[in-house]
Amino acid sequence: MLSEQQMRAEKLDSADELAGARSRFVLDDVVYLDGNSLGALPANVPGRVEDVVRRQWGELRIRSWEESGWWSAPERIGDRIAELVGAAAGQIVVGDSTSVNVFKALVAAVRMAGAGRDEIVVDATTFPTDGYIAQSAARLTGCTLRPVAPADVPGVLGSRTAAVLLNHVDYRTGRLHDLPVLTAAVHAAGALAVWDLCHSAGALPVGLDEHGVDLAVGCTYKYLNGGPGSPAYLYVRRELQDVFDSPLPGWNSHVEPFGMRPSYEPAAGALRGRVGTPDILSMLALEAALEVWDGVSIDAVRAKSLALTDFFLECVAAYVPEGRVECLTPVAHEERGSQVALRCDGAGDVMKRLIERGVVGDFRAPDVLRFGFTPLYVGFAEVERAARVLGETVGGAG
Ligand SMILES: *Cc1c(COP(=O)(O)O)cnc(C)c1O
Repeated sequence: MLSEQQMRAEKLDSADELAGARSRFVLDDVVYLDGNSLGALPANVPGRVEDVVRRQWGELRIRSWEESGWWSAPERIGDRIAELVGAAAGQIVVGDSTSVNVFKALVAAVRMAGAGRDEIVVDATTFPTDGYIAQSAARLTGCTLRPVAPADVPGVLGSRTAAVLLNHVDYRTGRLHDLPVLTAAVHAAGALAVWDLCHSAGALPVGLDEHGVDLAVGCTYKYLNGGPGSPAYLYVRRELQDVFDSPLPGWNSHVEPFGMRPSYEPAAGALRGRVGTPDILSMLALEAALEVWDGVSIDAVRAKSLALTDFFLECVAAYVPEGRVECLTPVAHEERGSQVALRCDGAGDVMKRLIERGVVGDFRAPDVLRFGFTPLYVGFAEVERAARVLGETVGGAG
């Protein structure tokens, strides 16, 4: 006999407008809830990569920089990502890692902030790499670094604040921070807002242009499914592009790269965020991966994401014995990203057993189980199964 949750899952799946997108991915019968760490493989990517390697590189060789659109790929792919994060074209460039782009964005923000501003405020709960890079950026620019919880940011802003680096969604708890309100507070203090979108792009609307974000970075291998190590991106608001002063002014960002001139003169536009030769193989794999978003509205993605996480919490409440796990993810929709984090004794071991039983999430030390919900390829029956297996694993009645 079907449980109440299994019947609910059937109903939710049959009403799911995004259900068709699942066929755009290579999947199996594993419940894959780790797309917030490495997105699944889009079905069209292997064929595209084969073409890029065999024909574009193997046959056309050097001609591909022009004929296969390699040279312009960083901005072309940036424009595709722009649609997903609420940015008009011409403001995003793809390349380098998120870590490197945090460095570019933060140092450039301090340089643009003006004299007398010598403090960088950073999210105290940030993904570690952002914090490490912020420390180094502060040392290089002679700034003091102030780590504070995102909610406390407005209280520490002042005439000395140069830039504020925040994560849109906390990678550990899945908490969604209030980008419009915090950006407005940063601007009211005369400082620049730098947002890290690693856990929000492709999962929920961001509204970069609408909310006047100054600079943003993000990776493409999580909810954007670009593949392991796929290049990250950098957004520089149009009004700032002419004064964006990159701390890594490589030849690819030169106004005339093939002029081979001894003196540096930056190009205009998003291109100014480039450094060296783009990583074409992974960049073009990413370009193919982004085709899964054709015809998909990010609002529909957000609606399904919330339905998935709501349903997961409902199933956890039904299947997991009281007190065995504690939810770290906010219940309020406006404070929730697209993952659920559960604190659990023996979490490392519990996750190992879940994976053995075909439910893949991940473990974050010391005691957190993370489950990421990627609306394009996760369905409600899978959510029910994940919670049921979790309940059995931690000793529920099942
Ligand atoms: C995943 C993630 C990163 C990863 O940085 P890389 O340079 O790609 O390794 C950085 N910041 C945040 C907030 C992340 O979630």
